[in-house]
Amino acid sequence: MQTSRWQKFETSIFSKMSQLAQTHQAVNLAQGFPDFDGPQAIKDAAIQAIRGDKNQYAPAYGVLELRKALAERQKDSYSLDYNPQDEVTVFSGATEAIFCTIVGLCQAGDEIISFEPFYDSYPAAAMLSGAVMKTVALKAPNWTFDIEDLKAQITPKTKLLLLNTPNNPTGKVFSRKELLAIAQLAKDHNFFVMTDEVYEELIYSPARHMPIATVPGMKDRTILVSSTSKTFSMTGWKIGYAFAPAFLTKAIRIPHQYTVFCSATPLQYGMIAALKLSYDYYHVLREEYSERRAALFKLLVEMGFECHLPEGTYFIVANHKNLLDIPDTEFAVWLTKVVGVACIPVSSFYADPEVAAKTSRYVRFGFCKDIATIEAAGAKFRANLKNGLNSYHHE
Ligand code: PMP
Ligand code: GLN
Repeated sequence: MQTSRWQKFETSIFSKMSQLAQTHQAVNLAQGFPDFDGPQAIKDAAIQAIRGDKNQYAPAYGVLELRKALAERQKDSYSLDYNPQDEVTVFSGATEAIFCTIVGLCQAGDEIISFEPFYDSYPAAAMLSGAVMKTVALKAPNWTFDIEDLKAQITPKTKLLLLNTPNNPTGKVFSRKELLAIAQLAKDHNFFVMTDEVYEELIYSPARHMPIATVPGMKDRTILVSSTSKTFSMTGWKIGYAFAPAFLTKAIRIPHQYTVFCSATPLQYGMIAALKLSYDYYHVLREEYSERRAALFKLLVEMGFECHLPEGTYFIVANHKNLLDIPDTEFAVWLTKVVGVACIPVSSFYADPEVAAKTSRYVRFGFCKDIATIEAAGAKFRANLKNGLNSYHHE
């Protein structure tokens, strides 16, 4: 069946690799979800909400108490002031917030610019909006970009720039200098910026997260998207949110109203409890993630991958050419089937994954896993990698 505009999109690489991992009983370091749960207090609050009859539609833009708690936190963390009434919106995950931002603001004739590699939902939303998506390369191995490349993509039609910091898959944290340069271009050429900050709390010293909305003159042209998925280790709850000035908030709430209308009521109450956790919670979160990051990094280096410690997120991008110099898509499947460790080919985060796979030798491993899971991956590598490589070369 011809399914019109969606035809060029395939089943998500995250679903595919998780499925493959399951089939081959591989350790799943592919799809980015923690194999541990967030705090019990959050679960208890949601259960209490269910028992307390908070089970009907929530207000379309989110339970007001949650919007207030989100606004307070944004003020505490970054001195950013948003009015919970008309500048804060709860979405069903950052994915929905991103989607509503892109289709709410852009249409045919507009242009969107995104840094590449990018999260897979960006081009799908851009396609639906009718706008053209252009890209600016983040260049391996340090994932820097050339400001001239960005300038070259800007035209009078540029409506929206998509920024993701800390960045999935690369782990890059955009520096203050980079953000100031991007902000200057947004102001000079009068375009909006959607900033995806879902990994804002997963940042490793000395790196620091800086929302571009804090740059003078940027708050009024920025849609800041984030999520409770990573911050509270509850990816299955899909509670995301966006901060934006009232005129932009109005535009992104309309697609939300006609698709999802409102996010799950009791889970929003659960997240009110999450936002009441003390600052210790975030400190411990980062400490634990630093340990997981160190454990996975040590393992990958020992196995012969070339990689560097990411400044943010829960991903390490590793170059596999010293192990097998084959396209990353083939390597990821081979590693899952033969070695028993699943990862994600980085080419999936490019506008044309098939073309990217020809030269990409990068795969992404997630360390949002208990140390025991990372150790289980180590055991698989030690048991199967050497023999697997030998057989590959003799086939
Ligand atoms: N943006 C990025 C960069 C992500 O990696 C993810 C998911 N891991 C999302 C958005 C989606 O977040 P959510 O689960 O809140 O929809
Ligand atoms: N964001 C997660 C990742 O990058 C996956 C989310 C999803 O499966 N849709 O792995």
